[in-house]
Amino acid sequence: MSFDGEIKENCAFHIHNESTEKCAECKLAICDLDQDYNMKQERICPICANRYNAKKTLRLFNYGLYAIIIVASVVLLALRFPISYLFIPLLLLMVAPYVFRPYLLKLYFKGLEPQQVVIPLLKYFEISGNPQYYSLFLKNVRDIPEEELTKHKEIIMKHTIPAIAFNFSKLDDKWENELSEVLRIDKNEFRKDLTTKYRKILIQTAVHGSQPNISKFMFFVAEETKDDDFLKEYIQEICSDEIAKLSDKELNTIYKDLLEELYLFEEQFYEICDRLNLSKEKEKIQNLVKRFVPPPVPKNQIEALLPPEQLEQKRQMEEKQIDMIEEEEVQIEEVPFEEEKEE
Ligand SMILES: [Zn+2]
Ligand SMILES: [Zn+2]
Repeated sequence: MSFDGEIKENCAFHIHNESTEKCAECKLAICDLDQDYNMKQERICPICANRYNAKKTLRLFNYGLYAIIIVASVVLLALRFPISYLFIPLLLLMVAPYVFRPYLLKLYFKGLEPQQVVIPLLKYFEISGNPQYYSLFLKNVRDIPEEELTKHKEIIMKHTIPAIAFNFSKLDDKWENELSEVLRIDKNEFRKDLTTKYRKILIQTAVHGSQPNISKFMFFVAEETKDDDFLKEYIQEICSDEIAKLSDKELNTIYKDLLEELYLFEEQFYEICDRLNLSKEKEKIQNLVKRFVPPPVPKNQIEALLPPEQLEQKRQMEEKQIDMIEEEEVQIEEVPFEEEKEE
């Protein structure tokens, strides 16, 4: 998900530099200060470069681990320990990855300052929804020296908001306290910022870059700040002509997630419309919900195991095949006419 236009793309690692390229592997924005290359001689970001090196270390570590386990097993057997003692080296095999993981993560961020890894971590969290990235983000923000944080706070906030909005359902109840604590801002000030400074970015993101459960976050923000106008603007943006005039197919492709939100939180949207006297908007939302084509329903047990996108692809393929068969039939019928013409 990119926010071109909303956030001017600066380098994710050198926050105040404008980016000149995107990492060939993870697509993070990088600048001229980042001069790492992969095997194909494409430019990559420092984290991806570190990951390459870490892979080599990991391989060595694995070989070392196997060697230790084999030697330990041989020694135990040679010393005539009962065979059940072999669980000791096996236990080592199971525990080692957990012990090694924090060290591996350290390798990924080697040579980078805390302020250089916060935006990449937020982006990884935004895309993957993996809470591990979020806790690492919090830890690193905490480690940024006061003076540096003041300089970078604005940009960090701008990236934090979409990341949080997209993954609101994955955060625990303490998220607001934690975030305002690490960013060293007052919780009320933070809430106020959401509906003032970041109002536009939030509404635009929630409508044009919608993701599952984002409306929950929008309802939450409006409720906490007692800002009905915020909800009104959100709903009006959903009802804009730009969206309504799209064809059914475009609507269900570009605004698939938005439609799904409207469908899932239908009652809540109508309640809000009733409460705020938005009767026209209510009608428009009803119309959008009607135009929503829900994801395909599995026809058998094998299909039930497929992820929704794959199932959708399968349906499209099936449709295409039907089209092709029909086209072939048409062609067969047309051939004699063409021959006649040529003669
Ligand atoms: Zn990268
Ligand atoms: Zn850079």
